[in-house]
Amino acid sequence: SSIFAAVEMAPRDPILGITEAFNADSRTHKVNLGVGVYYDDNGKLPLLAAVKAAEKARLDAMPARGYQPIEGLAAYNQAVQNLVFGKDSPLLANGQVITIEALGGTGALKIGADYLKRLVPGAKVYISDPSWENHRALFESAGFEVGTYAYYDAATRGVNFAAMKASLNAMAPNAVVVLHACCHNPTGADLTDAQWQEVVQIIKAKNLIAFIDMAYQGFAEGIDADAVALKLFAASGLQYFVSSSFSKSFSLYGERVGALSIVTASKEESARVLSQVKRVVRTNYSNPPTHGGAIVAAVLSSPELRQQWEDELAGMRERIRAMRIALVEKLKAHGHDFAFVAQQRGMFSYTGLTAQQVERLKDEFGIYAVSTGRICLAALNTRNIDHVADAIAQVLK
Ligand code: PLP
Repeated sequence: SSIFAAVEMAPRDPILGITEAFNADSRTHKVNLGVGVYYDDNGKLPLLAAVKAAEKARLDAMPARGYQPIEGLAAYNQAVQNLVFGKDSPLLANGQVITIEALGGTGALKIGADYLKRLVPGAKVYISDPSWENHRALFESAGFEVGTYAYYDAATRGVNFAAMKASLNAMAPNAVVVLHACCHNPTGADLTDAQWQEVVQIIKAKNLIAFIDMAYQGFAEGIDADAVALKLFAASGLQYFVSSSFSKSFSLYGERVGALSIVTASKEESARVLSQVKRVVRTNYSNPPTHGGAIVAAVLSSPELRQQWEDELAGMRERIRAMRIALVEKLKAHGHDFAFVAQQRGMFSYTGLTAQQVERLKDEFGIYAVSTGRICLAALNTRNIDHVADAIAQVLK
């Protein structure tokens, strides 16, 4: 019989499953709030003008496609370091940061996880409760036991910081703590700067290993403001991991552009760590693809394109913010207090809608959301927001 005869069907990806159902829906007023993608006010996935310009220049140059180094394009890795750590960071001047180009934020997390498994094989990994749905599976597939730390407070739709601190304080030394740098997915609830400072102190006091996931730099307040956690960690003297993604901030989802950075204690340590991380890459996919990284590097290293990109990023950020405020106002007109939506940051909001209410949104109104009540504000626009607000008010009755 077939070697696959006993293979079971794996469960569908919960988020991608929503999109499949949405695509099959023939109602014209349907809205997909289940995705984690930024759409413009026309409901279209944008191709940024800065990206278009860099791509045109690259196409005109018709570069040959040799293999990249295992760690990717040097100009890209340096541009990422400047963006994430700040170009004047002493960490960079001291050679304490290694950065490799990775296949999106997911690829960066996976390379980091595989390397950590070799570095601290017996450590336990902790993710926020709740977290991006792939965090758990990804670290488990790297061989780790994965637990959660307290994070979201359903009562305030914010962070239960006292509980979070208690969780961190109870962890064993060398435990890996996965933190969302900003725009927490799925809740939209972020830490304040002062709370970040406390988190850094606990991580240091308890000898924990921070793995900071930065998938939305520039989507909360701005490029620098969203890196506040990174700045506090940089000042701590700790060693830690950072995954970055340009899927959202460059609207380059399908090009898989991300990076893994690791902060070490010295330049000499960096060289040894990089050599080990390269072994992980070599045995996974050998070296990253050329196009996406070349485009991001070109945009970040040209003053004009960089300015254009920052303006376009600000446009995305401000449009999401405007949708948050509009949703709050429209629901207020229906007699519902959703002020927390304007406090939360980034693409997502935990609305507090129940799985049953989410089901009704789909069945009665063609509005798709995640059963946890997570909605993507970046999928709202001036033409669908009234329908969404009215529908939410209906299912709250
Ligand atoms: N981390 C978080 C918190 C995310 O929300 C996402 C994407 O949704 C990722 C990582 C992965 O990003 P990428 O699509 O670049 O792999």
